Amino acid sequence: MTLLDTLTQRPLLGDGAMGTQLMIAGLEQGNCGEAWNLTHPERVLAIQRRYAEAGSDCILTNTFGGSRIMLNRHGHASDVAAINRAAVAIAREAFGGRPGYVIGDIGPFGGLMEPYGDFTAQQVREAFREQARALVDAGADAVIIETQTSLEELQIGIEAARDAGAACIIGSMAYDVTLDGSTFRTMMGVDPERAAAFMEEHSAHIVALNCGTGMDMARARDAVARYRQVSALPLMAQPNAGQPKLVNMKVVYDETPEQMVGGVVPLIDAGAGIVGACCGSTPDHIRAFRQAIDAHVAQRAERASRSAHA
Ligand SMILES: [Zn+2]
Repeated sequence: MTLLDTLTQRPLLGDGAMGTQLMIAGLEQGNCGEAWNLTHPERVLAIQRRYAEAGSDCILTNTFGGSRIMLNRHGHASDVAAINRAAVAIAREAFGGRPGYVIGDIGPFGGLMEPYGDFTAQQVREAFREQARALVDAGADAVIIETQTSLEELQIGIEAARDAGAACIIGSMAYDVTLDGSTFRTMMGVDPERAAAFMEEHSAHIVALNCGTGMDMARARDAVARYRQVSALPLMAQPNAGQPKLVNMKVVYDETPEQMVGGVVPLIDAGAGIVGACCGSTPDHIRAFRQAIDAHVAQRAERASRSAHA
């Protein structure tokens, strides 16, 4: 069954952070984690296997910075296809033969486009196309364009995924809570209603949010509810494990599984079909989410059967 078909039946569990887990596994800040798909595939696999064992239904490939523009900063521009292909194979292997969905991850290209920056839209388009093609050709079940702040870049990503033949395209925005705390929008000023409408216009299949600043489980729930008001598409949320804090010159996220898990069912009730987590989250967070989702689904089934027998 395809990811979109399954979503009509039950909520799915995503995975947790990759970047912070790579650091724990020995990746140094500023080094290229995506190159590990070729140089240390066993370490990437070990992380994703822990997510699969914790109950993830969907695993994102370790390709957040896997576009040519990002890889070029580390001298790996010639390895775009190999890095992305390897990433899909590793994520698939993490499921150990059980059913699961591999979501090919495309992160921001990491700069600004003209007239604000040095990159042309054409360069970004070519980079995203190349990455999307490698992910889809290697068998990714879906492609997510994530941590997006601008609709222009998002559109290029969606079109690249479509051109590559992706069966399912997810657009995922990163929102920041405003200084007065009253609302949230992306760094480029996009609010959730506009993002969801834009994704519908451009034929994305799933409207998502991830990461962001100040976006805890409750704020993510608000974003999902706002998506739902303007869109009937499946929705997805991957909040961070709290706010990044600088401790001993290291960025840490300290929201525990116990603190986050209470937000899982409200997210589903607001309309999220896929719930995962972003920076700082661990297999323990995902295991807690699994229990919450399973208990919720069981309760729903029991209620339904009781009313059927009434
Ligand atoms: Zn994040």
